[in-house]
Amino acid sequence: MSKTYIFGHKSPDTDSITSSLVMSDLETKLGNEALACRLGGLNKETEFVLNYFDVEAPELIETIEDGKDVILVDHNSPAESVDNIENANILKVVDHHKIAFETSYPLFVRTEPVGCTETVLLKLYKENGFTPDKTIASLMLSAIISDTLLLKSPTTTEDDKKAVEELAEIAEIDYEAYGLEMLKAGTDLSSFTIPEILSLDAKQIDFKDVKSIVNQVNTASISDVMEMKGDLEVEMEKIIEDEELDLFMLLITDIVNSNSQVIALGKDASLVEKAYGVKLEDNTVLLEGVVSRKKQVVPIMTENA
Ligand code: MG
Ligand code: MG
Ligand code: MG
Repeated sequence: MSKTYIFGHKSPDTDSITSSLVMSDLETKLGNEALACRLGGLNKETEFVLNYFDVEAPELIETIEDGKDVILVDHNSPAESVDNIENANILKVVDHHKIAFETSYPLFVRTEPVGCTETVLLKLYKENGFTPDKTIASLMLSAIISDTLLLKSPTTTEDDKKAVEELAEIAEIDYEAYGLEMLKAGTDLSSFTIPEILSLDAKQIDFKDVKSIVNQVNTASISDVMEMKGDLEVEMEKIIEDEELDLFMLLITDIVNSNSQVIALGKDASLVEKAYGVKLEDNTVLLEGVVSRKKQVVPIMTENA
């Protein structure tokens, strides 16, 4: 039996890392040989989670050999996936993003419009007659808290809330206290260089033909991050030039008050003004109530592009 490689997206977040571990636990329970992998370094939040529950990080891979069996979690777009994905054999996709791939062969695809991949994975455990153990439940819980910002993001669904209640019980965790501690751990940028900050949670997204990067940085204090504005802008300009971008949007998201300060650079920066009915001053503006790139940035920016 050949081993199946399971991984989330590049610039992995807590959902991508934990989903590869959890999916590989589920596959093992189903009698399949699985290896949890990751496509990049751990962010501070994920590091906190793995340390907290004493779990080893998935194996780092950058590319996949031709013909290898893979399972994609927390993503499905080839642009966000492992290098050489087009020559791998995708067995399954478990995700909560819009479909952005095609294959010439049939496969198992399970995506739901919920706040986190782990909410879908919990359903798969149950459908197969399994219950996640305490550690697995703790990882799943962490990811849902991460993706939904403690159930406050507009991406949060009733299913996510139910999953959190259920998992918190198995994990025996006071999820609100733990969740805030976890999210705060993720806001510590002190050990990162400016280029690292700009790649921690960067997604390449084209708003129609506006070639863009949207990067999101969580913080408990917008003003702390804004102290780096000058340095961030210099590096953003460099990336715009190197990658021939039309727009670079940096969302500095206040996880306590649920707002985002945006810094927008590039020749199409005014798309932000048009989409949100705001005026950029010195390349920046506060977007009240905006915390979700998926729900509150991608659709509105695409519509106005
Ligand atoms: Mg993710
Ligand atoms: Mg996710
Ligand atoms: Mg995220």
